[in-house]
Amino acid sequence: MTVNKIPEKNSLLFVWLNNYAGVLLKTPSKTLLIDPVDIKVRSFPQVDAILITHEHYDHLDQRLIAELQKTTGCTVIADATSAKSLRNNIPSEKLKEIQVGETTKIGDVTIKAEKCKHPAASPVTFIITSEDGVKVWHTADSLPYSEMATIGQKEQLDMVFCTVGIAPGTSPETGSEIAWLTKPKIAVPYHSSSVASQKKFAEILRKELPKTACLIPEVNKIYQISKGEKKT
Ligand SMILES: [Zn+2]
Repeated sequence: MTVNKIPEKNSLLFVWLNNYAGVLLKTPSKTLLIDPVDIKVRSFPQVDAILITHEHYDHLDQRLIAELQKTTGCTVIADATSAKSLRNNIPSEKLKEIQVGETTKIGDVTIKAEKCKHPAASPVTFIITSEDGVKVWHTADSLPYSEMATIGQKEQLDMVFCTVGIAPGTSPETGSEIAWLTKPKIAVPYHSSSVASQKKFAEILRKELPKTACLIPEVNKIYQISKGEKKT
């Protein structure tokens, strides 16, 4: 699937790419791929950066990343453990290791690494701010943790991806707790192959967090979200 569409100003496009945390984000100027696995290289001819949250097989596919990097010339931003395992396949000037608390830029798009509560070696989550201020938190496979509330309040997030399954300890309940802590305008249940889990997440949100819209994504479908968008 090739995304030719360009988002309008103050908007971005996203596509959920697999049953895990694979997400394509497209701002008016940049295209980012987060944790790409189970995708075809030829479907992504234009990528500016690949972001990797941790080394688990459903997030890090060294061979795929090397191929994508070669065909697009993109930068790869990865947690320390993943960066180490990519070192032999990605040119050093294109590989950037990121630690919790660090910020980096791809053109005018800002990427900040935050904590990830998940049993991996050095996992991170990413807060991405587009050039016109649309903010997305890709929480990887994280379980909820208390500082998420402070981060949510500070960042005023437009959209948060919330894991609802597969990863250890995660469920629609833990996913909706992430939404509850971060209070985004839009919460997206992902990292699951069960629509029932996503629906359960939506149901909890309707009761506990009526001001947050729930967007249940379909794999490979393009969604556009805008800054300040609220549930109507
Ligand atoms: Zn995972």
